[in-house]
Amino acid sequence: MHLFIRGNRHGQEIEEDGTMKIDGELSDEQKIITGMLEDYCRKNVAPAYDGWIRDRVFPRKLMKDLSELVLGTVLPSTDHSADEVTLGLISELMGKYEIPVPAFLTMHFAKLLPLITDRDTREKYLEKYRKGELVICGGFTEPGQGSDSASISTTAMRNGDRYEVNGEKSFVSSPGIADVHILSVRTSQQDWSHRHRGISLLTVDAGEKGVEPYEMESMASVFRGDFGGIRLNNVSVPRENIIGTENGGFQTLMKILNTQRVHVGLYTIGLAEISLSEAIEYAKTRKTFGQPISKHQAVAFRLAEDWSRLEAVKLLAYKALALQDNGMDNSAECAAVKWHGCEVAFEAVSHAMQTFGAAGYVRTSAIERRFRGARGFLIGDGTPDIQKLIISRKLFGREYSP
Ligand SMILES: Cc1cc2nc3c(=O)[nH]c(=O)nc-3n(C[C@H](O)[C@H](O)[C@H](O)COP(=O)(O)OP(=O)(O)OC[C@H]3O[C@@H](n4cnc5c(N)ncnc54)[C@H](O)[C@@H]3O)c2cc1C
Repeated sequence: MHLFIRGNRHGQEIEEDGTMKIDGELSDEQKIITGMLEDYCRKNVAPAYDGWIRDRVFPRKLMKDLSELVLGTVLPSTDHSADEVTLGLISELMGKYEIPVPAFLTMHFAKLLPLITDRDTREKYLEKYRKGELVICGGFTEPGQGSDSASISTTAMRNGDRYEVNGEKSFVSSPGIADVHILSVRTSQQDWSHRHRGISLLTVDAGEKGVEPYEMESMASVFRGDFGGIRLNNVSVPRENIIGTENGGFQTLMKILNTQRVHVGLYTIGLAEISLSEAIEYAKTRKTFGQPISKHQAVAFRLAEDWSRLEAVKLLAYKALALQDNGMDNSAECAAVKWHGCEVAFEAVSHAMQTFGAAGYVRTSAIERRFRGARGFLIGDGTPDIQKLIISRKLFGREYSP
Protein backbone atom coordinates (compact mmCIF):
# COMPACT_ATOMS: atom_id res chain seq x y z
CA MET A 1 0.00 0.00 0.00
CA HIS A 2 3.00 2.28 -0.32
CA LEU A 3 2.99 5.37 -2.42
CA PHE A 4 6.45 5.96 -3.76
CA ILE A 5 7.70 9.27 -5.01
CA ARG A 6 11.32 9.75 -5.69
CA GLY A 7 13.14 12.61 -4.05
CA ASN A 8 15.64 14.87 -5.72
CA ARG A 9 18.51 12.40 -5.46
CA HIS A 10 16.79 10.09 -7.85
CA GLY A 11 15.09 12.41 -10.29
CA GLN A 12 13.41 15.79 -10.32
CA GLU A 13 9.82 15.09 -9.54
CA ILE A 14 8.42 18.55 -8.81
CA GLU A 15 8.01 20.98 -11.70
CA GLU A 16 8.47 24.72 -11.21
CA ASP A 17 4.70 25.19 -11.09
CA GLY A 18 4.49 22.69 -8.23
CA THR A 19 3.22 19.78 -10.40
CA MET A 20 4.37 16.44 -9.07
CA LYS A 21 5.33 13.39 -11.11
CA ILE A 22 4.81 9.99 -9.56
CA ASP A 23 6.66 7.06 -11.04
CA GLY A 24 5.33 4.43 -8.65
CA GLU A 25 8.79 2.97 -8.10
CA LEU A 26 11.14 2.98 -5.15
CA SER A 27 14.77 3.67 -5.92
CA ASP A 28 17.21 0.83 -5.16
CA GLU A 29 18.49 2.72 -2.10
CA GLN A 30 14.94 3.21 -0.81
CA LYS A 31 14.17 -0.48 -1.33
CA ILE A 32 17.25 -1.50 0.64
CA ILE A 33 16.71 0.86 3.55
CA THR A 34 12.97 0.24 3.98
CA GLY A 35 13.45 -3.50 3.44
CA MET A 36 16.08 -3.70 6.18
CA LEU A 37 14.02 -1.61 8.59
CA GLU A 38 10.85 -3.59 7.93
CA ASP A 39 12.68 -6.88 8.42
CA TYR A 40 14.16 -5.63 11.69
CA CYS A 41 10.80 -4.35 12.96
CA ARG A 42 8.96 -7.54 12.08
CA LYS A 43 11.46 -9.62 14.02
CA ASN A 44 12.31 -7.29 16.90
CA VAL A 45 9.68 -4.61 17.47
CA ALA A 46 6.31 -6.29 17.01
CA PRO A 47 7.16 -9.32 19.22
CA ALA A 48 8.75 -7.14 21.94
CA TYR A 49 5.79 -4.84 22.59
CA ASP A 50 4.05 -6.90 25.28
CA GLY A 51 7.30 -7.09 27.28
CA TRP A 52 7.94 -3.35 26.89
CA ILE A 53 4.46 -2.55 28.17
CA ARG A 54 4.89 -4.91 31.12
CA ASP A 55 8.35 -3.64 32.14
CA ARG A 56 7.78 0.02 31.24
CA VAL A 57 11.52 0.44 30.58
CA PHE A 58 12.58 2.11 27.35
CA PRO A 59 14.76 -0.42 25.45
CA ARG A 60 18.13 1.28 24.96
CA LYS A 61 19.19 -1.57 22.69
CA LEU A 62 16.62 -0.36 20.18
CA MET A 63 18.65 2.85 19.71
CA LYS A 64 21.83 0.79 19.14
CA ASP A 65 20.04 -1.33 16.55
CA LEU A 66 18.54 1.70 14.84
CA SER A 67 21.98 3.31 14.70
CA GLU A 68 23.03 0.53 12.35
CA LEU A 69 19.87 0.86 10.27
CA VAL A 70 18.54 4.40 9.95
CA LEU A 71 19.78 6.94 12.50
CA GLY A 72 22.47 8.27 10.14
CA THR A 73 19.92 9.05 7.42
CA VAL A 74 18.91 12.36 9.02
CA LEU A 75 22.47 13.69 9.17
CA PRO A 76 23.52 15.69 6.11
CA SER A 77 26.75 15.05 4.21
CA THR A 78 27.33 11.51 5.40
CA ASP A 79 27.37 8.25 3.47
CA HIS A 80 23.96 7.39 4.88
CA SER A 81 22.14 10.71 4.51
CA ALA A 82 18.76 10.45 2.82
CA ASP A 83 16.43 12.94 1.20
CA GLU A 84 13.19 13.93 2.93
CA VAL A 85 11.05 11.62 0.77
CA THR A 86 13.13 8.65 1.88
CA LEU A 87 12.94 9.84 5.50
CA GLY A 88 9.17 9.95 5.00
CA LEU A 89 9.13 6.29 3.97
CA ILE A 90 11.07 5.54 7.15
CA SER A 91 8.63 7.55 9.30
CA GLU A 92 5.63 5.78 7.77
CA LEU A 93 7.26 2.40 8.40
CA MET A 94 8.12 3.39 11.96
CA GLY A 95 4.43 4.15 12.52
CA LYS A 96 3.34 0.84 11.01
CA TYR A 97 5.56 -1.05 13.41
CA GLU A 98 5.06 1.40 16.29
CA ILE A 99 8.74 2.13 16.81
CA PRO A 100 8.57 3.76 20.26
CA VAL A 101 8.02 7.51 20.08
CA PRO A 102 11.22 8.44 22.03
CA ALA A 103 13.27 6.75 19.27
CA PHE A 104 11.21 8.23 16.43
CA LEU A 105 11.43 11.78 17.85
CA THR A 106 15.14 11.45 18.68
CA MET A 107 15.79 10.79 15.02
CA HIS A 108 14.04 13.97 13.96
CA PHE A 109 15.40 16.22 16.74
CA ALA A 110 18.88 14.96 15.75
CA LYS A 111 18.62 17.17 12.66
CA LEU A 112 19.47 20.02 15.04
CA LEU A 113 22.80 18.54 16.19
CA PRO A 114 24.81 19.42 13.04
CA LEU A 115 23.82 23.06 13.66
CA ILE A 116 25.89 23.28 16.87
CA THR A 117 28.61 25.69 15.81
CA ASP A 118 31.32 24.62 18.28
CA ARG A 119 33.10 21.72 16.56
CA ASP A 120 34.06 19.68 19.64
CA THR A 121 30.61 19.98 21.20
CA ARG A 122 28.94 19.09 17.92
CA GLU A 123 31.14 16.03 17.42
CA LYS A 124 30.58 14.90 21.02
CA TYR A 125 26.80 14.74 20.53
CA LEU A 126 26.95 13.44 16.97
CA GLU A 127 29.24 10.59 17.94
CA LYS A 128 26.90 9.49 20.71
CA TYR A 129 23.92 9.79 18.39
CA ARG A 130 25.58 7.79 15.62
CA LYS A 131 26.39 5.03 18.11
CA GLY A 132 22.78 4.91 19.33
CA GLU A 133 23.74 6.21 22.77
CA LEU A 134 21.66 9.38 22.70
CA VAL A 135 17.95 9.83 23.34
CA ILE A 136 16.88 13.43 22.73
CA CYS A 137 14.02 15.32 24.35
CA GLY A 138 12.93 18.48 22.55
CA GLY A 139 11.55 20.81 25.22
CA PHE A 140 9.67 23.81 23.83
CA THR A 141 6.33 23.72 25.65
CA GLU A 142 6.01 25.31 29.09
CA PRO A 143 3.27 25.32 31.73
CA GLY A 144 2.29 28.82 30.56
CA GLN A 145 2.44 28.34 26.77
CA GLY A 146 2.25 25.69 24.06
CA SER A 147 0.94 26.93 20.72
CA ASP A 148 2.47 30.38 21.19
CA SER A 149 5.97 28.93 21.28
CA ALA A 150 7.68 32.34 21.25
CA SER A 151 6.12 33.27 24.61
CA ILE A 152 8.52 31.18 26.68
CA SER A 153 9.77 32.30 30.06
CA THR A 154 12.65 29.84 30.60
CA THR A 155 15.79 32.00 30.67
CA ALA A 156 19.46 31.40 29.92
CA MET A 157 21.45 34.31 31.36
CA ARG A 158 25.06 34.77 30.26
CA ASN A 159 27.54 34.27 33.10
CA GLY A 160 31.09 34.49 31.68
CA ASP A 161 31.51 31.65 29.21
CA ARG A 162 28.43 29.83 30.49
CA TYR A 163 24.65 30.21 30.60
CA GLU A 164 22.62 29.85 33.76
CA VAL A 165 19.28 28.26 32.86
CA ASN A 166 16.13 28.64 34.95
CA GLY A 167 12.55 27.69 34.17
CA GLU A 168 10.34 24.74 33.36
CA LYS A 169 9.32 22.74 30.28
CA SER A 170 6.14 20.69 30.44
CA PHE A 171 4.03 18.22 28.42
CA VAL A 172 7.13 17.07 26.55
CA SER A 173 8.03 13.62 25.21
CA SER A 174 10.83 11.56 26.81
CA PRO A 175 11.93 13.90 29.67
CA GLY A 176 12.74 10.97 31.96
CA ILE A 177 14.42 8.87 29.27
CA ALA A 178 16.50 11.46 27.42
CA ASP A 179 20.26 11.85 27.73
CA VAL A 180 20.10 15.36 26.39
CA HIS A 181 17.41 18.02 26.28
CA ILE A 182 17.26 20.48 23.40
CA LEU A 183 15.50 23.46 24.96
CA SER A 184 14.15 26.76 23.74
CA VAL A 185 15.39 29.44 26.14
CA ARG A 186 15.12 33.20 26.32
CA THR A 187 18.58 34.76 25.90
CA SER A 188 17.40 38.29 25.36
CA GLN A 189 14.38 40.18 26.71
CA GLN A 190 12.23 41.67 23.95
CA ASP A 191 8.95 43.49 23.88
CA TRP A 192 5.96 41.26 23.20
CA SER A 193 5.70 41.95 19.47
CA HIS A 194 9.38 40.93 18.95
CA ARG A 195 9.39 38.06 21.45
CA HIS A 196 10.49 35.46 18.86
CA ARG A 197 13.77 37.36 18.36
CA GLY A 198 15.32 36.73 21.77
CA ILE A 199 15.13 32.92 21.77
CA SER A 200 17.98 30.42 21.49
CA LEU A 201 18.19 26.64 21.34
CA LEU A 202 20.48 25.01 23.87
CA THR A 203 21.55 21.41 24.50
CA VAL A 204 21.41 20.58 28.19
CA ASP A 205 22.73 17.22 29.44
CA ALA A 206 20.24 15.28 31.52
CA GLY A 207 22.85 14.62 34.23
CA GLU A 208 23.63 18.33 34.73
CA LYS A 209 23.09 19.64 38.29
CA GLY A 210 19.70 21.36 38.60
CA VAL A 211 17.98 19.39 35.78
CA GLU A 212 14.93 17.73 37.32
CA PRO A 213 12.72 15.69 34.99
CA TYR A 214 9.30 14.67 36.28
CA GLU A 215 6.65 12.34 34.97
CA MET A 216 3.08 13.06 33.83
CA GLU A 217 1.62 9.80 32.65
CA SER A 218 -0.27 10.47 29.40
CA MET A 219 -3.07 8.43 27.83
CA ALA A 220 -0.48 6.92 25.47
CA SER A 221 2.40 6.43 27.93
CA VAL A 222 4.26 3.17 27.42
CA PHE A 223 7.56 3.70 29.25
CA ARG A 224 8.37 5.34 32.56
CA GLY A 225 9.53 8.88 31.83
CA ASP A 226 8.15 9.03 28.28
CA PHE A 227 5.97 12.09 29.02
CA GLY A 228 6.20 14.91 31.54
CA GLY A 229 8.29 17.97 32.26
CA ILE A 230 11.70 19.26 33.30
CA ARG A 231 12.44 21.80 36.02
CA LEU A 232 15.64 23.76 35.51
CA ASN A 233 17.16 25.34 38.59
CA ASN A 234 20.34 27.37 38.06
CA VAL A 235 21.63 24.88 35.50
CA SER A 236 25.09 25.89 34.31
CA VAL A 237 25.60 25.19 30.58
CA PRO A 238 28.67 25.98 28.44
CA ARG A 239 28.13 28.60 25.74
CA GLU A 240 29.36 26.05 23.22
CA ASN A 241 26.08 24.13 23.68
CA ILE A 242 24.17 26.66 21.65
CA ILE A 243 22.52 25.42 18.45
CA GLY A 244 22.78 27.83 15.53
CA THR A 245 23.04 31.46 16.56
CA GLU A 246 22.27 33.15 19.86
CA ASN A 247 18.78 34.71 19.66
CA GLY A 248 18.15 32.97 16.32
CA GLY A 249 16.69 29.80 17.84
CA PHE A 250 13.04 30.44 17.01
CA GLN A 251 13.65 30.54 13.26
CA THR A 252 15.81 27.39 13.44
CA LEU A 253 13.11 25.58 15.41
CA MET A 254 10.35 26.59 12.98
CA LYS A 255 12.41 25.29 10.06
CA ILE A 256 12.92 21.90 11.70
CA LEU A 257 9.32 21.65 12.87
CA ASN A 258 8.05 22.37 9.35
CA THR A 259 9.07 18.98 7.92
CA GLN A 260 8.79 17.25 11.30
CA ARG A 261 5.03 17.85 10.99
CA VAL A 262 4.98 15.71 7.86
CA HIS A 263 6.99 12.95 9.53
CA VAL A 264 4.64 12.96 12.51
CA GLY A 265 1.75 12.83 10.02
CA LEU A 266 3.30 9.87 8.22
CA TYR A 267 4.04 8.08 11.50
CA THR A 268 0.34 8.45 12.41
CA ILE A 269 -0.70 7.34 8.92
CA GLY A 270 1.51 4.26 9.48
CA LEU A 271 -0.40 3.53 12.70
CA ALA A 272 -3.62 3.77 10.68
CA GLU A 273 -2.41 1.62 7.78
CA ILE A 274 -1.49 -1.32 9.98
CA SER A 275 -4.78 -0.95 11.88
CA LEU A 276 -6.69 -0.91 8.59
CA SER A 277 -4.88 -4.06 7.35
CA GLU A 278 -5.72 -5.86 10.58
CA ALA A 279 -9.35 -4.71 10.39
CA ILE A 280 -9.65 -6.01 6.80
CA GLU A 281 -8.28 -9.43 7.80
CA TYR A 282 -10.53 -9.56 10.84
CA ALA A 283 -13.60 -8.56 8.79
CA LYS A 284 -12.98 -11.52 6.47
CA THR A 285 -13.02 -14.03 9.33
CA ARG A 286 -15.46 -12.62 11.91
CA LYS A 287 -18.98 -13.82 11.15
CA THR A 288 -22.33 -12.33 12.13
CA PHE A 289 -25.73 -13.29 10.78
CA GLY A 290 -24.15 -16.22 8.99
CA GLN A 291 -21.54 -14.38 6.94
CA PRO A 292 -18.19 -12.56 7.29
CA ILE A 293 -18.76 -8.99 8.48
CA SER A 294 -16.91 -7.76 5.35
CA LYS A 295 -20.01 -8.85 3.43
CA HIS A 296 -21.98 -6.19 5.32
CA GLN A 297 -21.71 -3.11 3.16
CA ALA A 298 -21.50 -0.77 6.17
CA VAL A 299 -18.33 -2.51 7.38
CA ALA A 300 -16.66 -2.85 3.97
CA PHE A 301 -17.47 0.68 2.82
CA ARG A 302 -16.22 2.24 6.05
CA LEU A 303 -12.83 0.61 5.50
CA ALA A 304 -12.89 1.39 1.77
CA GLU A 305 -13.39 5.05 2.65
CA ASP A 306 -10.48 4.98 5.10
CA TRP A 307 -8.21 3.40 2.48
CA SER A 308 -9.15 6.14 0.01
CA ARG A 309 -8.54 8.96 2.49
CA LEU A 310 -5.22 7.51 3.64
CA GLU A 311 -3.97 7.18 0.07
CA ALA A 312 -4.93 10.81 -0.57
CA VAL A 313 -3.14 12.21 2.49
CA LYS A 314 -0.05 10.13 1.70
CA LEU A 315 0.09 11.80 -1.70
CA LEU A 316 0.02 15.18 0.00
CA ALA A 317 2.65 14.10 2.54
CA TYR A 318 5.13 12.92 -0.08
CA LYS A 319 4.45 15.99 -2.18
CA ALA A 320 5.30 18.18 0.84
CA LEU A 321 8.58 16.28 1.29
CA ALA A 322 9.43 16.34 -2.42
CA LEU A 323 8.92 20.12 -2.34
CA GLN A 324 11.38 20.29 0.54
CA ASP A 325 13.90 18.17 -1.36
CA ASN A 326 13.58 20.55 -4.28
CA GLY A 327 14.08 23.62 -2.09
CA MET A 328 10.55 24.90 -2.67
CA ASP A 329 8.13 26.50 -0.23
CA ASN A 330 5.99 23.85 1.48
CA SER A 331 4.75 25.39 4.74
CA ALA A 332 1.05 25.08 3.81
CA GLU A 333 1.46 21.49 2.56
CA CYS A 334 3.34 20.48 5.73
CA ALA A 335 0.69 22.07 7.94
CA ALA A 336 -2.08 20.39 5.94
CA VAL A 337 -0.48 16.97 6.40
CA LYS A 338 -0.17 17.59 10.12
CA TRP A 339 -3.82 18.45 10.71
CA HIS A 340 -5.66 16.62 7.94
CA GLY A 341 -3.33 13.61 7.78
CA CYS A 342 -3.46 13.08 11.54
CA GLU A 343 -7.26 13.49 11.59
CA VAL A 344 -7.76 11.05 8.73
CA ALA A 345 -5.37 8.60 10.39
CA PHE A 346 -7.01 8.90 13.80
CA GLU A 347 -10.42 8.31 12.27
CA ALA A 348 -9.12 5.26 10.41
CA VAL A 349 -7.74 3.78 13.64
CA SER A 350 -11.07 4.51 15.30
CA HIS A 351 -12.92 2.73 12.47
CA ALA A 352 -10.55 -0.23 12.76
CA MET A 353 -11.51 -0.40 16.43
CA GLN A 354 -15.16 -0.28 15.39
CA THR A 355 -14.59 -3.21 13.04
CA PHE A 356 -13.14 -5.28 15.88
CA GLY A 357 -16.04 -4.37 18.14
CA ALA A 358 -15.31 -4.95 21.84
CA ALA A 359 -12.21 -6.99 20.92
CA GLY A 360 -10.62 -3.76 19.70
CA TYR A 361 -11.48 -1.82 22.83
CA VAL A 362 -9.68 -3.91 25.46
CA ARG A 363 -6.21 -3.07 26.75
CA THR A 364 -4.70 -6.18 25.17
CA SER A 365 -5.63 -4.94 21.69
CA ALA A 366 -2.92 -3.19 19.67
CA ILE A 367 -5.68 -1.13 18.01
CA GLU A 368 -6.62 0.30 21.40
CA ARG A 369 -2.97 1.30 21.97
CA ARG A 370 -2.70 2.88 18.52
CA PHE A 371 -5.99 4.75 19.11
CA ARG A 372 -4.45 6.42 22.16
CA GLY A 373 -1.19 7.08 20.32
CA ALA A 374 -2.85 8.56 17.25
CA ARG A 375 -4.98 10.87 19.42
CA GLY A 376 -1.87 12.46 20.93
CA PHE A 377 -0.54 13.48 17.53
CA LEU A 378 -3.58 15.71 17.06
CA ILE A 379 -2.05 17.88 19.81
CA GLY A 380 1.72 17.23 19.85
CA ASP A 381 3.86 19.18 17.36
CA GLY A 382 1.09 21.73 16.88
CA THR A 383 -2.70 21.46 17.01
CA PRO A 384 -4.97 21.48 13.91
CA ASP A 385 -5.99 25.08 14.73
CA ILE A 386 -2.39 26.25 14.53
CA GLN A 387 -1.84 24.36 11.27
CA LYS A 388 -4.91 26.06 9.78
CA LEU A 389 -3.45 29.39 10.91
CA ILE A 390 -0.28 28.61 8.93
CA ILE A 391 -2.32 27.65 5.85
CA SER A 392 -4.52 30.75 6.17
CA ARG A 393 -1.44 32.97 6.23
CA LYS A 394 -0.31 31.40 2.98
CA LEU A 395 -3.76 31.73 1.38
CA PHE A 396 -4.71 35.22 2.55
CA GLY A 397 -1.38 36.80 3.50
CA ARG A 398 -0.71 37.92 7.08
CA GLU A 399 -2.71 41.10 6.72
CA TYR A 400 -5.97 39.28 5.96
CA SER A 401 -5.57 36.06 7.98
CA PRO A 402 -6.65 35.40 11.62
C1 LIG B 1 1.51 13.45 22.61
C2 LIG B 1 2.15 14.79 22.81
C3 LIG B 1 3.50 14.91 22.64
C4 LIG B 1 4.11 16.15 22.85
N1 LIG B 1 5.48 16.23 22.73
C5 LIG B 1 6.08 17.41 22.92
C6 LIG B 1 7.50 17.51 22.84
O1 LIG B 1 8.20 16.53 22.61
N2 LIG B 1 8.05 18.74 23.05
C7 LIG B 1 7.31 19.84 23.34
O2 LIG B 1 7.89 20.89 23.52
N3 LIG B 1 5.96 19.78 23.44
C8 LIG B 1 5.34 18.59 23.25
N4 LIG B 1 3.97 18.50 23.37
C9 LIG B 1 3.21 19.68 23.69
C10 LIG B 1 2.48 20.24 22.47
O3 LIG B 1 3.40 20.76 21.54
C11 LIG B 1 1.48 21.30 22.95
O4 LIG B 1 0.54 20.63 23.76
C12 LIG B 1 0.77 21.96 21.77
O5 LIG B 1 1.66 22.78 21.07
C13 LIG B 1 -0.44 22.79 22.24
O6 LIG B 1 -0.11 23.62 23.29
P1 LIG B 1 -1.01 23.65 24.63
O7 LIG B 1 -1.25 22.24 25.06
O8 LIG B 1 -0.35 24.56 25.58
O9 LIG B 1 -2.38 24.24 24.17
P2 LIG B 1 -2.70 25.81 24.01
O10 LIG B 1 -1.64 26.47 23.22
O11 LIG B 1 -3.02 26.38 25.34
O12 LIG B 1 -4.03 25.73 23.15
C14 LIG B 1 -5.28 25.34 23.74
C15 LIG B 1 -6.32 25.26 22.63
O13 LIG B 1 -6.48 26.55 22.00
C16 LIG B 1 -6.25 26.44 20.61
N5 LIG B 1 -5.55 27.62 20.15
C17 LIG B 1 -4.45 28.21 20.70
N6 LIG B 1 -4.07 29.27 20.00
C18 LIG B 1 -4.92 29.37 18.95
C19 LIG B 1 -5.04 30.26 17.84
N7 LIG B 1 -4.17 31.26 17.65
N8 LIG B 1 -6.05 30.05 16.95
C20 LIG B 1 -6.92 29.04 17.13
N9 LIG B 1 -6.85 28.16 18.14
C21 LIG B 1 -5.87 28.32 19.05
C22 LIG B 1 -5.41 25.20 20.44
O14 LIG B 1 -5.55 24.64 19.13
C23 LIG B 1 -5.94 24.29 21.53
O15 LIG B 1 -7.07 23.61 21.05
C24 LIG B 1 3.34 17.26 23.20
C25 LIG B 1 1.96 17.13 23.37
C26 LIG B 1 1.36 15.90 23.19
C27 LIG B 1 -0.12 15.77 23.39
